[in-house]
Amino acid sequence: MRSLGFAPQTALGRFPPARPMFLGNVLHDGSPFRLHLHVMPTGRGELAEQLGFRDALRADAALRDAYAAEKRRIVDAAVAASASSGGTARVAASAYTIEKSGFVEAALYDLGLRRPPTDMGEPIAPGATIGFLGGGQLGRMMAFSARAMGYCVVALDPDPACPTAAVADEIIVGRYDDADAARRLGAMSDVVTYELEHVGIDAARAAAEGAPLRPGLAALAATQDRLAERRFLRAIGEQTAPWREVRGVAEAKAAARELGLPMRLKLPIGGYDGRSQVRVTNDAGIEAGVAALGGADGRPLLAEAEIDFEAELSVVVARGRDGRTLAFPISRNVHDAGVLDESVAPAPFPEPIPHVAREIGDWIARKLDLVGVMTVELFLTRDGLLVVNELAPRVHNSGHWTIEGAATSQFEQHLRAILGLPLGSVAPHGVAAMVNLLGTGPDRLARLAGVDRALADPGVHVHVYGKRRVFERRKMGHVTVVGSDADEALERARRARAALVWEE
Ligand code: ADP
Ligand code: MG
Repeated sequence: MRSLGFAPQTALGRFPPARPMFLGNVLHDGSPFRLHLHVMPTGRGELAEQLGFRDALRADAALRDAYAAEKRRIVDAAVAASASSGGTARVAASAYTIEKSGFVEAALYDLGLRRPPTDMGEPIAPGATIGFLGGGQLGRMMAFSARAMGYCVVALDPDPACPTAAVADEIIVGRYDDADAARRLGAMSDVVTYELEHVGIDAARAAAEGAPLRPGLAALAATQDRLAERRFLRAIGEQTAPWREVRGVAEAKAAARELGLPMRLKLPIGGYDGRSQVRVTNDAGIEAGVAALGGADGRPLLAEAEIDFEAELSVVVARGRDGRTLAFPISRNVHDAGVLDESVAPAPFPEPIPHVAREIGDWIARKLDLVGVMTVELFLTRDGLLVVNELAPRVHNSGHWTIEGAATSQFEQHLRAILGLPLGSVAPHGVAAMVNLLGTGPDRLARLAGVDRALADPGVHVHVYGKRRVFERRKMGHVTVVGSDADEALERARRARAALVWEE
């Protein structure tokens, strides 16, 4: 292309993957044309879709006209906006691409190049019963939404006094791998979902005998085992931190030579909130780490290079019955020793970062044939790349800000999706900050002081999960503030949290 006089587009933003373009001019039958050529990423099935879209444009004049009209509308609106703000009439290429992607996406579904979920089902009306596998705080908040919409709730949990109990019609007491209890749950329900991915596959299958399980078994199986998750992500072409499956100390040391140190060793199944993983920096650490995770007997572990990230982000994406996905604005998350500490949303990062995060969420949701909400935890690397850290086929702590901060909460959105109802608006009300309220001190009955002082700021919302006992670092609640600016909202949320104390 260079030899024909084409040159790379200049002024690319700092953050890839802005798509490289070649620009040039050609004379055709005496008329000058300006041409640009996109260099397409081959991932996410996009090339095949774009070729299908191109063929449809060639074959269908009405589609061609509608597409041209949409492009004209975007350009006119951008020109009008910049003129009214006194700026030069210019349309940012990335904004243009992002805006027209909605039209292209709709066309891909119309053309059958993208498909609705296999498990579509008919819409489920209020009065029906929703079964939850798990009765923790996520189930509790989901149950509030279910109640508000007029649905009944039954949850399976080992603890009859679990956080969901106060809101549910019934708790079936049983372990997360108790297939008989799960079967009873399914028999009582019109649809079953899960609030944690650590439910046994057999239990999930037993629940699914009685009612559709959404998201389905495939999403559960692909995400409850970190090694399976890595393999799935590799198979669909998503980037993660470089990783190896290792058995025993010798393989872990060999992995460290390839991946470099520091490295993370993670137990494939059952870890959460930074549990069941260790950061290792040298040979002695590897030996101790493998032993601590019970990997000395050759049990497989995930070894993963540590990413020196610029930020941690997450995107909560919903996929409903028509197959189209809708993502909440991305949040920027800060963890403390593996436990989420703070989230801010919409995260203060410029396009195309939010757009690429949404594209990743959309692609993964479609490849999982998801129905419901899924969260993708991402690392933003110092080179501006987004790599996947972890998937959760459910509502997520980093989406709690949506309760006050978005038109629809992630909990209601999940229910709408699994009930076969249209998805709600994900528009943010401002900039939300969410800080987690963790337990402190020894295991004892939970009594919270200072809520009056925390609420002295009228923009503060305190959520307490109703756990009967508190102990060090247990997730007990969270605080949300919706403001106009990330730093200000965060500061107010932190101040409110500082007023909250677990009594001795
Ligand atoms: P969990 O299931 O406990 O959330 P994660 O794998 O998400 O497990 O790890 C928890 C946190 O630990 C992450 O959010 C991140 O802060 C840190 N972490 C985990 N893996 C890596 C990694 N490879 N590089 C850098 N930080 C990591
Ligand atoms: Mg995580």
